[in-house]
Amino acid sequence: MKTELVKFLEMTGRYSDEIMEKLMGYMHGIISWNEKVNLTNLTEEDEFIEKHYIDSLLLWNSESFKKADKIIDVGTGGGFPGVPLAILYPEKEFVLLDSLKKRLNIIDSLTHELGINNVTTFHGRAEDAAKKKDMREAFDLCVSRAVANLTSLAELCIPFVKIGGHFVAYKGPGAYDEAKEAENAINILGGKLESITVPEGQKESEHTLITILKTAKTPEKYPRKAGDPLKKPLK
Ligand code: SAM
Repeated sequence: MKTELVKFLEMTGRYSDEIMEKLMGYMHGIISWNEKVNLTNLTEEDEFIEKHYIDSLLLWNSESFKKADKIIDVGTGGGFPGVPLAILYPEKEFVLLDSLKKRLNIIDSLTHELGINNVTTFHGRAEDAAKKKDMREAFDLCVSRAVANLTSLAELCIPFVKIGGHFVAYKGPGAYDEAKEAENAINILGGKLESITVPEGQKESEHTLITILKTAKTPEKYPRKAGDPLKKPLK
């Protein structure tokens, strides 16, 4: 699987010894910390590379990512998809947000140790962070993987995005149904479904990227108070 990663990195044009060292160093760090703090279910290297690295990096070729300078990863957990993207693209700035401080402390420690200098972490619920002046509508791109269904996730993520920027949800099977169900919520929040794509060489049943364009300001009342987007998804 390491060869698959090398091939993938070569395809992006970002292969270098330094990038490989950072990716391997981060993976070994997460696997080792995982004995003390639950960060991932994937502790076998091949699976880690496939499901955390290659999956996270599938966005590399999309227009929404290429033009983004400032990116937020909502519900980053052990740093996915944010950290692998940040390692390959040091010229872009990443904020990794999660409500679990323990996970963020580990990301801080590993990124510092490995000299990954374009990552900062933010501890808090997305519902609260999106109300902060310096975070609301402050990002060119918001990404999120494995956090909630699209209707709830749209309320957590769209408020962070600048008008003209994008929100990309990493999804698997069921993306089309989720997108249909979330359509009205997306519109209410100032977004518009732009595309549902299967990255080149991937199976639709496993990897789908839902891209939403921010077309209008998100009304002040969203996101609602912490917990509501998940408990009472917008209709
Ligand atoms: N994105 C990572 C990945 O794909 O491996 C982690 C996914 S993990 C299943 C979901 C993460 O989202 C958890 O770390 C959890 O703490 C975080 N999370 C869930 N709801 C959140 C919220 N409202 N605000 C901030 N973080 C949240």
